[in-house]
Amino acid sequence: MWTNSEDKSLRERAEAVIPGGMYGHQSVRLLPDDYPQFFERASGAYLWDADGNKYIDYMCGYGPNLFGYGHEGIDAAYIAQLKKGDTMTGPSGLMVELAEQMTSMVSHADWAMFCKNGTDATTMALMIARNFTRKKTIVLAKGAYHGAAPWCTPLKNGTTPNDRANQIFYTYNDVESLEAAVKEAGDDLAAIFAAPIKHDTFIDQEDPTPEYARRARELCDEAGALLVVDDVRAGFRLARDSSWSRVGVKPDLSSWGKAIANGHPISALLGAEKARNAGATIYATGSYWFSAAPMAAAIETMKLIRETDYLERTQALGQRLRKGLDEAANRNGFALRQTGPAELPLIMFNDDPGLSKGYAWNQALMKRGVYFHPWHNMFICAAMTEADIDHTLDVADEAFRVVRDAGPLPPVEKLAILGILADDN
Ligand code: PMP
Repeated sequence: MWTNSEDKSLRERAEAVIPGGMYGHQSVRLLPDDYPQFFERASGAYLWDADGNKYIDYMCGYGPNLFGYGHEGIDAAYIAQLKKGDTMTGPSGLMVELAEQMTSMVSHADWAMFCKNGTDATTMALMIARNFTRKKTIVLAKGAYHGAAPWCTPLKNGTTPNDRANQIFYTYNDVESLEAAVKEAGDDLAAIFAAPIKHDTFIDQEDPTPEYARRARELCDEAGALLVVDDVRAGFRLARDSSWSRVGVKPDLSSWGKAIANGHPISALLGAEKARNAGATIYATGSYWFSAAPMAAAIETMKLIRETDYLERTQALGQRLRKGLDEAANRNGFALRQTGPAELPLIMFNDDPGLSKGYAWNQALMKRGVYFHPWHNMFICAAMTEADIDHTLDVADEAFRVVRDAGPLPPVEKLAILGILADDN
C-alpha cells in the first residue's frame, strides 16, 4: 500500500530550512500531486522513496543513471580511487587517461577539460567561443536548456538583461530562422549552440534534420565561428560518439555530463584542435573539478560504453515500451504522442491541452510503482529488463483505466505558474 507520511513530514521540515521547500529541476512543485520529493535509496533500475515505496525509475536521476544505480564495477572503481586519493592538491593521472579515452571515442574531439556540472561545460563553451573569435554573439535555439547560470537559466529572476546580452534565438530545425539569426549577428558571431535533439520540456521532441545540422556547420565555417553541441543530457545515450555523428556533422565543441560517470559528479567539455588554444587561455576552475574518484568512475563507464551492447539494448527496450504503450492507449480509447528517440522518450496525450489526462495518468502510474514524468523526456537505462517494461505496460493499462473512469478533468492549475518562465527565449 502506497503511503507518503514520511515525505510529507520531510517536506514540512524542508519548508522551514530550504527556500521554497526545494529548488531547481528536482523540485516536485510542478509534478502531479503526491509525487515523492525525497528518496532513500536506489539500485539498478529502481528507486525507493522516503516512505519505502519502490519504483521502476524512468527518470534515471534526470539522466546520470545509464548502467543502473550503484553499478558494481563503476562504484568499485570509484571507491578504490576514493581510498587512494580524491580531492587533492593536484589531479591524478586518471585525468589524462580519461581525456585520452574520451577524445578517442568522440570523433570531433582532440582535447578535453573536466568540470562538475553540465552548466560548467556549457559556460566554458560560451567563453571559449568568444575567446576564439574575439566576438560576442551566441545564436541559440529558442526554448533549449543549457543550464542554470545567469546567461542561460530559464527563470530570469536574479539575472540582468546584461547577463543575456549578445544572444539571438532561432527555432530548432528551422533552417531559415537559423540563417536569419546568423544574419542578425552580422560580423559578431562567436558560436551557434545546438541541442543534439530537440529535447525541450512540455513539447514534442524532434531529431535534428541533416539539412539543419549541416547548415549550422556551414554557417559557422563561413563566419569563422564555433559550432557547439550540448550533449549533457543525451550524450552516449544515442551514440558511442557525439550525438551529431548520427547526422554526420562534427561540432567544434561539445558539452557532456550526467551519464559520463553513471552518476558520479563530473562533466566535460570536448573540443577540436582549432579551439585548443582558446581553451588553454580562459580561466576556468573549481575546487572539485580535478577530483580523481569520479574520473575513475568515468573511465569504467567509458569501458562499458565501448564494450557492452547497452546502446542497442536501451533502444530495443525503448521500442518495446513505445509499442506497448501505444497498444494499451488504443485499447483504452486514448492516443499518445510519443516523441524523441525511444531510449529518451517524451510521452504526452493527444487532445490534452490542460495536461489533465497526462497528470492523472502519471499519478496513477506513480502510485503503482512506475515513476514517469508528464512533460520532461525520460530515460531508459541498461539495468532495465524486458520484464520491467512488460510490468510497466500492465501498470500503464490499469492507469489508463483510472483516467478513463475519471471522466473530464480540469486543466492542471499548478501549471499556471509557467507564466513566469522566460517567454522570449
Ligand atoms: N544542458 C543540457 C542539455 C541539460 O539537459 C542540462 C541539465 N539538465 C544542462 C545543460 C545543465 O547540466 P547541470 O544541471 O549538470 O548543470
